[in-house]
Parts: sequence; C-alpha cells; structure tokens
Amino acid sequence: MKYVSTRSIDGAKFTASDAILTGLAPDGGLFIPETIPHIPEDFTLSRGAWYAMYQAMKPYFEGDELEESLEEIARNAFSFPVPFFSSDGKDTLELFYGPTAAFKDFGARFLAFSMEKLLEKRNKDLCILVATSGDTGGAVASAFHNRNHLSVKVLFPKGRVAERQQKQLTCWDGNVESYEVDGTFDDCQKMVKEAFMDRTLSGLSSANSINLGRLLPQMAYYVYASSLYKAKYGKEAVFIIPSGNVGNSTGAFWAKAMGAPIKSIVLAVNANRTIPEYLETGEYRPRPSVETLANAMDVGAPSNMERLFAMFPSIEKFRDNVQSFSVSDDEIRRTIEEEAAEKDHIICPHTACGERVRRDHYSSDDTVVVATAHPAKFDKIVEPIIGKEIPVPSALFDILQKPNRAKSIGRDYHELF
Ligand SMILES: *Cc1c(COP(=O)(O)O)cnc(C)c1O
Repeated sequence: MKYVSTRSIDGAKFTASDAILTGLAPDGGLFIPETIPHIPEDFTLSRGAWYAMYQAMKPYFEGDELEESLEEIARNAFSFPVPFFSSDGKDTLELFYGPTAAFKDFGARFLAFSMEKLLEKRNKDLCILVATSGDTGGAVASAFHNRNHLSVKVLFPKGRVAERQQKQLTCWDGNVESYEVDGTFDDCQKMVKEAFMDRTLSGLSSANSINLGRLLPQMAYYVYASSLYKAKYGKEAVFIIPSGNVGNSTGAFWAKAMGAPIKSIVLAVNANRTIPEYLETGEYRPRPSVETLANAMDVGAPSNMERLFAMFPSIEKFRDNVQSFSVSDDEIRRTIEEEAAEKDHIICPHTACGERVRRDHYSSDDTVVVATAHPAKFDKIVEPIIGKEIPVPSALFDILQKPNRAKSIGRDYHELF
C-alpha cells in the first residue's frame, strides 16, 4: 500500500510510515491512499472494538515497516470502550471514553504509539509542537506523555481555553511541557510556524489532525460501528457527524468506500457554514471562523477538505455523496435541553449539532449521531441548560485531580527552547 499527495496524485509515492513521520506531503498536500482497500475477508466483531479496528487498518499498512507491530499498537492505543447509546435505531455512537474524553484520543494515541515504534527503530528523537485552543492539545499531550523518544510542547492562549480543557493541557510532567502564551490562538500558531522555519532548530514535528496516523483510526471506528449497527438492526444507518476540520468525517467516507455498511454520511456544522454553502452555491469559499458554543468545530477553512475534494472532485460528485446542515447556538441550547428532558440523555454542544440535524432532517431514517466529546468537558455550558450536575467520567476525573503546571511566556518562540 502506497500513499500520494492530494496535490500530485500521479506523482511521488510514500509509505504509511513516511506519511506518519512527516505529516504533510513535501508539496504541501495531504497524504491519501493510492486506492482505498476493501475490508478484509476475515473481519470480525467477535474480538471487540480494538481488534475490529486493527483489522480495518491492516490493509493500509500492507508492506509497511509498521505492519508487524500494528496489532500491538492498536491494542495499546484503543484501550477503552466504544459504546452506543441505543434508542430504537436512532442511536448515538459515544467516542468519548478515552483519557481526555473526546474522539481525538483515538487518533492521537495511535499516532503516538506509531511514532514511538518508528523512532525506536531509527534511534531518533522528535519534539512535537502543538498550538491549541481546545481539544487537540489535551489529546496529544495525554497520548505522548511518557512515550520514549518523544517530547511535547503545548502552546495555548492565556485566558481563552475552557477551564477543564486547560486542565488537560497543564496537568503533565516529564516529557510534556505546557506554555501559556500572552496572546491569541493565532499568535500560538504563528510561533509554532516560526519555530519550524528556524533552521538552527532540528528534530521538530507536529501532530496535526491532517496526519495520516490520526485519520486512519477515525476510519477504523466507522468500519466497526457501522458493522455493529448492521448486525444489531439488520440495516444500514445514516451517520451524522459533528464536523469542523472534517477529519472525523473523512474517516467515515474512507470507511464507506471500503465497503462498510453506511447508508450515507451527513456533516453537522455549527454557525461556520462553509460546507453547507458550498453545497448550496457550488462555490467553495473558505473564510475566517466565527465563535460558537461548539468551539472545537469553529472552523471556516476546513483543513481536510483537500481529501474530500480528491474523492469527489466535481460539485455534482460532492453533492451525490455529502450532505451538510448548519446549527445555530440557540438550536444547540434547545437540543441539549430537549434531549435531556425527553431521553434523560446529556450531550455536549458538538453532539447537539448532530442531534439537531437528526431531529430536523432525518427523523424517519435509521441514524447514528456521533458523540464527539463527553458533556462533562463542557460543564459550564451544559449544566445551566439542564439544571443539574453532570457526573464526571473516571479518566477525566483522574486528570482533574492533578496539579497545574504551565510556563507563562510572551510571543517570542525562542522562549520555548
Ligand atoms: C475536533 C472536534 C470536532 C471536529 O472534528 P473534525 O475532525 O475537526 O471535523 C467535533 N467535536 C469535538 C468535541 C472535537 O474535539
């Protein structure tokens, strides 16, 4: 199995390991498989989620130097449950039982264990730089904590990160350091870019959501979950996915192309309407993001769109395969309230976007809404709406008990080294 860049599909070919270690293709494009493989013949649900995910990922590593280690990496990375909240075929796939209580744990953990294995073989070290305004930094910090040959520097903007999210960025020690930057998220990103451009610094890398190592696990849980739904109900479901940079949903499109039993895929977005407008007008116009209650989806120029355009190159093909609806902050609040009152089901603001789209557009279909984060992460938003306290899952509870440590710095990247 080889990979190519979205910007030169007939150009140079790369292995999965190359793609994982470098992140971005040399021409600035994103890595995609040369051809999407089929789900293996011996695919089974009988050995649990992690094993099914391992099987779905196996063809992507055929002939790769990680092939032999893949089963062990998957067992270590996917070490938590992937349950459904079931409601008569209108189910919710809960992807938030990892250490930082959001779906990003799957990708970040797989990436960390894969990089560790590759660096061990090469006897090299890497320092991962991450600028974060929310969930990414916590998932990356937690996943890379105590991994050999790897260290992490997390940058976040002072006073602009939710309290519990900040805790997940600052509770680490050892090989993970956090920096509270006196500036905005854009300043943090700029510092990371400047560090990458400084030729006197070497051994730096990123763990962006566009990395192939983060995308493949997101494909794998859709193969698993759609097969489980089909086994349970005998039918294929419409998957409704709360989306921002569309990495999670790109995983679903790859799973469907592999033959996973998915009827169709719907992107639920917040007030950042770039994708629904593209579907309406046929004109793709990326733009600056606007702030919403579902802040991990505040994206106006989704970074994985290049991968979707590679699959669906014309607006007609795109419309045949992608549906998308936008949800306002008022609708997010109303949906959290309705879901709690009617089903005693507490959901986060991101998941609420998916649930709103189900209620308004797919009420007569078999559907799975993807729950991207645990509501306890967004207690300050959700608790006043539902009028009660949200129980904290044990992994998140452990993190909340740890002391905070962050270095306060200005906007000069030299302070990081
Ligand atoms: C990152 C994130 C999203 C958006 O996922 P994309 O892959 O960027 O589309 C949605 N919900 C939560 C809770 C997230 O952390």
